[in-house]
Amino acid sequence: MFGFLKQVGEYTRDAVDAARNLTQGLAVTFDHMKRRPVTVQYPYEKLIPSERYRGRIHYEFDKCIACEVCVRVCPINLPVVDWVMNKETKKKELRNYSIDFGVCIFCGNCVEYCPTNCLSMTEEYELAAFDRHSLNFDNVALGRLPTSVTTDPSVQPLRELGYLPAGAMDPHGVPADQPRAGRLPEQILASLSSNPGSGAGDGGESSGSAPAKEESAE
Ligand code: SF4
Ligand code: SF4
Repeated sequence: MFGFLKQVGEYTRDAVDAARNLTQGLAVTFDHMKRRPVTVQYPYEKLIPSERYRGRIHYEFDKCIACEVCVRVCPINLPVVDWVMNKETKKKELRNYSIDFGVCIFCGNCVEYCPTNCLSMTEEYELAAFDRHSLNFDNVALGRLPTSVTTDPSVQPLRELGYLPAGAMDPHGVPADQPRAGRLPEQILASLSSNPGSGAGDGGESSGSAPAKEESAE
């Protein structure tokens, strides 16, 4: 009899413990339900890509000298440079240029090494197509203006985390005129040139000021 009562007592204590733990868990869950979800409602809201975002490549036919450097530095020799040698002028004549974005890995090597800067990375990342052959962009398709999140009237552009003001974690409701945390590279360069000794003691900006010092030394 005593053993049975002891078992009932332990069972009741365990049940109360389980109910308390369950209530604590549910309290945390309901507390989260009171917060605004940090969700980007694509396609009505889109994050603004960063300054060095590697989107679709832009190409300027008039600047290209058909040197094929972009082909040599590409990990898969992807750009197709179609040129012929003009025997009279003894110069290359560019016929066509194409990059297949179904194969490109957007590493940006071609953009880095192009000697005439006729290649550049854009912020356009919506390249999905039903036909993989339509991803093979010729020089006309590569030369068109890229779409932009900030100029699309049907889209609410939101700043990425690294571009939010100090302390802000949610891009919603952040005023557009509020400056981002930290400084832009050109602002660091400007402060270094106006006050050459101030770069080293700039707390929290070490990652940004190091390349700035390198650039100013060149
Ligand atoms: S971004 Fe990279 S993979 Fe794409 S064409 Fe340029 S070098 Fe090749
Ligand atoms: S590296 Fe630049 S200039 Fe040379 S072929 Fe490629 S796109 Fe043209």
